[in-house]
Formats: sequence, structure tokens, C-alpha cells
Amino acid sequence: MAIHVIPVTEADLHQEDPACQCEPDLKMDEESGEMVWAHQLLQPERLINDLIKL
Ligand SMILES: [Zn+2]
Repeated sequence: MAIHVIPVTEADLHQEDPACQCEPDLKMDEESGEMVWAHQLLQPERLINDLIKL
């Protein structure tokens, strides 16, 4: 079973499913050899807002 990597700022926007709305990419993690679903940022401005808060 593949691992899902979801942006921490967007945990509420994603689901651990290849059919997630962000259209995740399936990649091979070269270190572990595991298949990884790399989820895309849906709201990059959230990340920026978080940075400003810090
Ligand atoms: Zn997603």
C-alpha cells in the first residue's frame, strides 16, 4: 500500500486517496523503495500566511 504525503498546512483539504482533488503524483521514494503519493499544494497562500504569522 502506498504512502500519502500531504502538505501539513492542508491536512483538511486532502484525503489519503489517489482520487484526491489535488491530483497527487505517484512517485517512487528512492531511499525506501516505497511508492509515495505526493499531494500537490492547493492553497499556496496558506503556506505564506503561516510564514507571516511566524
Ligand atoms: Zn491531495
